[in-house]
Amino acid sequence: MGDEYCTCNGRTSIYTENDDWGFWDVCCNCNKPVECSYTYFNHYDGEDHCDYDD
Ligand SMILES: [Zn+2]
Repeated sequence: MGDEYCTCNGRTSIYTENDDWGFWDVCCNCNKPVECSYTYFNHYDGEDHCDYDD
């Protein structure tokens, strides 16, 4: 087990990274992702973020 996610205390600065499926917050201090920050682009929140051509 490693420190997969940011464990910084007093974190004040983050930036956003994204891939094909969503985006997440990354700590500027340790450059590790912030746990539970991942958000899917096509999450049902009442808006269409992605179009499917099924
Ligand atoms: Zn951190």
